[in-house]
Amino acid sequence: MGLLDFKNTLQQVKKDLLDKPKKQLLGLKENGNNTLNFKKEIKAICIDPGHGDNFNGTIDPGTSIKVGDVMFLEKDMVLPVALKLKEKLELSGYQTIITRNGDVAKKQQRFTWRLEKAAKSDLLISLHMGYFADSSLRGIQVIYFSGIITSENLADNLKYGQKSNMSDFSVEKLARQSKNSKSLAESILDSVNVLPNLQRNSLKGESHNILRNFEGIASVIVEMGVIGNADDRSVLLNDFETLANEIAIGITTFINKYKDDE
Ligand SMILES: [Zn+2]
Repeated sequence: MGLLDFKNTLQQVKKDLLDKPKKQLLGLKENGNNTLNFKKEIKAICIDPGHGDNFNGTIDPGTSIKVGDVMFLEKDMVLPVALKLKEKLELSGYQTIITRNGDVAKKQQRFTWRLEKAAKSDLLISLHMGYFADSSLRGIQVIYFSGIITSENLADNLKYGQKSNMSDFSVEKLARQSKNSKSLAESILDSVNVLPNLQRNSLKGESHNILRNFEGIASVIVEMGVIGNADDRSVLLNDFETLANEIAIGITTFINKYKDDE
């Protein structure tokens, strides 16, 4: 699929999805900070297509690669998957929030605006693509919240006006979020077949800003293939509906497991 076709597909997917009546988020309870009353029911899911926001006056493209005359940008490649995933989760009866459905021109506090949008949801699914200098490397990687907050994390939080004292975090809640996030990541990894597992580290714990500052039950970053690899790009351009469907199945599998466990 050429870039023009890709753009047309993206326009059509956006049009189809945006024309539907928006579901209201009704009756959602706050997750609450620093509380030991853990929420047992998963109702709302936040889908976060990475990048595409105004960073220091320019739109952050994420990672990119030029092939011939075509420039592939991570921010655009992840969007059709995100919109399809939203549609599929809604068809399964979940409430969804998407952090962006195009570029976000308004200059906002980095990461914090995404977290504000995600604040009333139970799961955060951030969608990205990976980059490696070696273009033969390909595959999916799912990064889950490690539950570990370092002094560098606290300093970074201070910069963005987020919780910057260790005492503001509940250690028990962090452990629980990490356990649930790992389980969610495993379910997604198990159900995605359209992309192979990355040859190394297909499952990884991290404490990226949006993972550690999300107040809900579980948070993951899905690196949907490697942008430099032609086979992975083809999945994102041509098979994005299959990919979205497989990610949705992974999410619902986790939700059913979570219900049985609690
Ligand atoms: Zn990214």
